[in-house]
Order: sequence, then structure tokens, then C-alpha cells
Amino acid sequence: MSLPPSRCVPSSDVVVIGAGISGLCAAYAMRRAAPDLKVAVLEAGGAAGGNLRRVAVGESFVDAGAQTVNGLSPELEDMLRSLGLESLMTWSSKPEVRIYARGRLRGLPRWSHDGPMARDILRLGYVSGPTAALGAIRSLRAAFSREAGGGISADTLRSVVRAGAEPSLLAPLRESSYDPGISGDPTRRRQAWGLSGGTAQLAERLERELGPVIETGSPVAKVLREGQGRLLVDARGEALRYADSVICATPAPVAGGLLADHSVSEVLTGIPYRASATVTFRLADGSEPLHDDVTGILVGDARLAPLVAVSFLDRKFDRAGTGENFVRCSLRVGPSMDTTPEAVCRLAAERLGAILGHQPRIVDRAASVFRYGVPQASTEDVRRLREAQAGLGEQGIQLAGSYLARPSGLRAAISSAFQAVDALTR
Ligand SMILES: Cc1cc2nc3c(=O)[nH]c(=O)nc-3n(C[C@H](O)[C@H](O)[C@H](O)COP(=O)(O)OP(=O)(O)OC[C@H]3O[C@@H](n4cnc5c(N)ncnc54)[C@H](O)[C@@H]3O)c2cc1C
Repeated sequence: MSLPPSRCVPSSDVVVIGAGISGLCAAYAMRRAAPDLKVAVLEAGGAAGGNLRRVAVGESFVDAGAQTVNGLSPELEDMLRSLGLESLMTWSSKPEVRIYARGRLRGLPRWSHDGPMARDILRLGYVSGPTAALGAIRSLRAAFSREAGGGISADTLRSVVRAGAEPSLLAPLRESSYDPGISGDPTRRRQAWGLSGGTAQLAERLERELGPVIETGSPVAKVLREGQGRLLVDARGEALRYADSVICATPAPVAGGLLADHSVSEVLTGIPYRASATVTFRLADGSEPLHDDVTGILVGDARLAPLVAVSFLDRKFDRAGTGENFVRCSLRVGPSMDTTPEAVCRLAAERLGAILGHQPRIVDRAASVFRYGVPQASTEDVRRLREAQAGLGEQGIQLAGSYLARPSGLRAAISSAFQAVDALTR
């Protein structure tokens, strides 16, 4: 491949690859920390935001992707304030998530810090006999010791199901569990927040602030060493940009391809990702008494696959009066699934109907497919990544993305972006 000499290529001090929340936060933080730096964000798609986007359902906008951020760091608080978004912050307060399993909705047992009690698991009908109950507890205990401090992820729940317990046992046992915001315990700290009108507004506001710094429609295929810096090339090998430093804020497998010449590539490409689809329905106003006290439903019934969760969007937060009948269905996308909007909506409506016991009256709907879903890096992957990352940093390349920390994707994406900026501007 013959490359044009770097002097003929537009150059920047720092190029951020990817304009998801990681890339946007990194570029914004850099602009504030070092206003003189020449920064460019190269985004493959036609718009910024990545997994953070809002969709129109009728005349309203709702989050199609991430809706909550767990925890609030001082850096993030500062950023929200400087973006003027602080006043839109809302904290989740509504109490319950239920589990649809063995043909009906079931409440969660009373949890203790030592884990679920066998008698609760049996009494509430999650499992059919004492052996299965003990099996479930063993699986959960093992998962807790593996994931110490990180709570239990959705994948762990699935492995518990595979181990014989039915259904997925949501475990808000620790403060940073899968979705702590759904804890009904008023004595616990407020943890999960969103923005009134949609969390995706964070990405939208950052995009607006950064303006022409973001170049959409610019997919980067490789990051090559050139002189003291890096040359970014497209799929045809044509040079896009020369940069002294690079922040790679794409999903892990993409980052692995971009950094194919580095040893970290293998670790990055090895992190399994999944694709997911979300369908949001607006149901006929006031016609559906949809489980008033429930924020969401986890679906632990294999017959209803690929539906994994149903969330009542606005009930997660104290948003008085708005959009009470927005219901979001999250589906896991398999290789043979038809992902056209019509097919995904049809499937979601059918599964939702099975849970509710009747077909809901749908007024509007919107479907989104996320090709890269929630990362599933293991603790070992994360450890190897961090090691490799330290080596890359010395060469002017930083990684920023939710795969660098667990368990909450959005918070991890944001904090890893801040770390990357910190390393570059130190
Ligand atoms: C349906 C759904 C619901 C979720 N809910 C939550 C939640 O409630 N709470 C939570 O904490 N997390 C949640 N997550 C996870 C969270 O959204 C992600 O972890 C986070 O948004 C990841 O941000 P990111 O910037 O690291 O990556 P992405 O959002 O994946 O952004 C990467 C960007 O890089 C671009 N890109 C890719 N390849 C290239 C290339 N070659 N060149 C240039 N650009 C490229 C992409 O187009 C994209 O814009 C959810 C995810 C999904 C899919």
C-alpha cells in the first residue's frame, strides 16, 4: 500500500475515532482542559451519539438506547453543569421490577447481602424444587465471588438460568448491581439518573458544542505508525488524517481492527459483543392499566425469546405526567433474525401481548437495532486490556469505551473517556 506523505494530509494534534458518548466526552473534555489543542472526531456513521440516541414515537422523543447512568462522578457533574443540563437530571425512584417466568409475573424476593434465601426462591415460584433452589443459590454465590464489587450482570443471570434455575434472578444485592436504580429500598442512595426528555440529550448537546470538530461519514479502517505520529487510513488505504495522538472510542472489536499492528488487537477483537433491538410502543392513552407499581419486567421465559426485558420508560424516573404509556421491549438479535423495523415491531408486539395476557392497543411505535450491544468483557479480559492499554498510552494511543470497565456501560464509557484525556493532557 503506498501512502501519501503525511505532510499532504490534514493533520490534528489529537484525533478521536468514534463519536459515541466516549468519543464526544473525550473531545469535549480535551477542549476544556487544553483549548489550544487541534482536535478532530472522525465518525463512521451519519450522526453522533452511538448507542445514545432518541427516537420519535408519535410526537414524543424517547431513548432508544441507554436510558440511565449509574452514579455521578465529580467530572461528570462538572460537565453536565457546563452543558447546562444539570436542571434536567432526574433520579430513578419507582420501585419494582418483576420477572415473567413460569407463565406469570413474579415479584422479587427480599434480598439480603448474603444472597437470596432458598425458601424465598421456592416460595415465590422461581424454581420448582429444593434442588433447583439450592443450585440457583450456588450459582449466584459463585457469580458474586467472581464479580466482587461489580454486582451481577445480565449475562451472569443468563448463566444462572442455564445452570437450572428459572427464571433469571435479578440481584440488586449490591449497590452497583445490574440496575440499582430499580431498588425499591428508600434507604439506599440514589444511583441511577437520566435526563428528563431523554438521556441521549447528553450526546446531542455535546455534538452541538463540538460542532465542526466532528466529521461524520468518516470511517477509519486502520491506524498506522508514521514518523512520530499516526496516520489514519480508510478501507481503500487512503490517508484521512495525520495525528500526534489518537483516542480510539469505538466498540472493542472495531478498535481491535484499527490497531491490528498492536498486541492489544487480539484482546480487543476477542471481546464478545452482541446486537440488540429495542422497540418502543406508545399505547392508547389510559387504556392499559400496565402494572402500575412496576418499572420493568425481566423476561426469564425461554418461550418468549428473543424478548429479554420490558421497561415502562417514564416510570423509571419522576417525570410527572409525561408518556405514561411508553413501553420499551428489548430483544436480543440472533444471526437469523429479520431485523427490518416491521419484523422487529411485530415480534415485540406479539411477545408483549403474551406477557400482558392481551394484545395492547398500539398507537405509535419505533424500532432501533444496535449492532454493537452491551459489551460482555470478562474480568480477565478487562485486566488484560488495562495492561495492554498502559503500553499503548506510551505510544500516544488511548482507548476510551465502555468495555474498559464494568458493569454499567454508559458510566464506564464516560469514565474511560476522562481517563484517556487525563493521560493525554497530563
Ligand atoms: C439498547 C441499549 C440500552 C442500553 N442501556 C444502558 C443503560 O441504561 N445504562 C448504561 O449504563 N448503559 C446502557 N447501554 C450501554 C451504553 O449505551 C454503551 O455502553 C455506551 O453508549 C457506549 O458508548 P461508546 O461511546 O463507548 O460506544 P458506541 O456508543 O458504540 O459509539 C461508538 C461510535 O464509534 C463509531 N465507529 C465505529 N466504528 C468506527 C470506525 N471504524 N471509524 C469511525 N467511527 C466508528 C460508531 O458509529 C459509534 O458512533 C445500553 C446499550 C444499548 C445498545
